[in-house]
Amino acid sequence: MTSKYEGDSITYHENGNLRSRGAYPKHEGKSYDGKKEGPFYGYEEDGETVWMIVTYKKGGSRAKPDEYPLGTCDVCGEGRRLNWGDSCPRCGAKIDK
Ligand SMILES: [Zn+2]
Repeated sequence: MTSKYEGDSITYHENGNLRSRGAYPKHEGKSYDGKKEGPFYGYEEDGETVWMIVTYKKGGSRAKPDEYPLGTCDVCGEGRRLNWGDSCPRCGAKIDK
């Protein structure tokens, strides 16, 4: 049983809103490796706010550092989320609103 991913890759939050969106490259003969390629977007539970962008290059590795449109924790670099309070849930650092 082989699974071949191709085309749009979309996941949803439990509330039905968009959670992530990206695309797998088109199948090109035997060279197809099933790896992600291009930008994948991570959405907050509102289904509209992009909090993370991961860009893959051919072969599935990162084409560049992940991007966090909402910003990151100054201390540990964790990508910020809409549901963060006044401190980073990863390292506990205070967050400037
Ligand atoms: Zn942190």
